[in-house]
Amino acid sequence: MNPQNKIIQLFKSLLNKEKQDVLKVLNKISTNEAIPSKDMLVSSCPHCKSKLFIKNGYRGAYQKYKCKSCFRVFTSKTGTSLHGLHKPEKFQLYKSLMLEAYYPIKTIANKVGISIQTAFDWRHKILTGVMKDDKSFEGITEIDDVWFSYSQKGRKGLKYSKKRGGNKRVGDNEFQAKLLITADRNRSIDMSLACIGRLTKADIERKISGRFSEDCVLVSDKHRSIAAFAKSENLKHISFKASQHTAGGEYHVQNINNMAQSLKGIINYTLKGVSTKYLQNYATWYQIMREKINSKELRSKLLKNKNATQLFVNREVIYEWFIENLSKRTYRCPVKKTYQSAVDQEDLARLSLI
Ligand SMILES: [Zn+2]
Repeated sequence: MNPQNKIIQLFKSLLNKEKQDVLKVLNKISTNEAIPSKDMLVSSCPHCKSKLFIKNGYRGAYQKYKCKSCFRVFTSKTGTSLHGLHKPEKFQLYKSLMLEAYYPIKTIANKVGISIQTAFDWRHKILTGVMKDDKSFEGITEIDDVWFSYSQKGRKGLKYSKKRGGNKRVGDNEFQAKLLITADRNRSIDMSLACIGRLTKADIERKISGRFSEDCVLVSDKHRSIAAFAKSENLKHISFKASQHTAGGEYHVQNINNMAQSLKGIINYTLKGVSTKYLQNYATWYQIMREKINSKELRSKLLKNKNATQLFVNREVIYEWFIENLSKRTYRCPVKKTYQSAVDQEDLARLSLI
């Protein structure tokens, strides 16, 4: 008998007073979070990608499936950020608060009634789980890189320096993390942490190559790597001196400049600086805030990303790959929690935004 029928049968066996009490409690439980109407988000086995699977009972309110290829069991939440949560109601509240404002970790931990560590983990579990949509760009498309000082905020045991965040060096140097922002005038936006140090054509290619429609006109300041990228993608490119801010008329980068300014304000002032390790996640947060999505929409975004758990637990491994391959910095390991995984580092990095 499935759980629903079991509950109905049990309910019928109660006294009238008990029935009323149960109904009161049920009314308080938000059903849109705990019980999905359908498990439509399962299209293949999250472990081996096979499309051959069968229904296999329930785990709580969730339909379980069993893969006929690898014989493993899964639900629509397996692999996603929503997998294995111990306090679903609190998580639901946390999720809504995250869409409300950029609350500092301590504030949100207090509001929800969870530990600082859980608040930190949930923040990045959610942000890691938001799937990148590789939408293509059309028409006038602005592109620029935003600079953030390389930061190791939160890393333990770095003996050589008390100060982990930032540095006072100005200008383009090997301590600047580069976030590439690309946006057309049609709401297609990409924010990708590309590298630390000089942005190369290869960095741009790795992030946005092949996503431009034929009518695209790339607009940027005079950046050699962007010009080289435009040429290799066969794109029309209009550039201007950085000091001029525009090439005249509609050819400017004002929209991404505005985004860059508010993102910098949030990261450097509201959040008092963030670690480069998590910079991409904060850019993702800014994007979902900008889209003004609600908690339900966020939930369905999270359910789509079946690689989220893997990326979340391997964040350190991905960061190590990033530092060693896309910066001139030295990777230093002393963190409290490290996870090791049998999967290929480069594969993970590709799945991840960095
Ligand atoms: Zn399988």
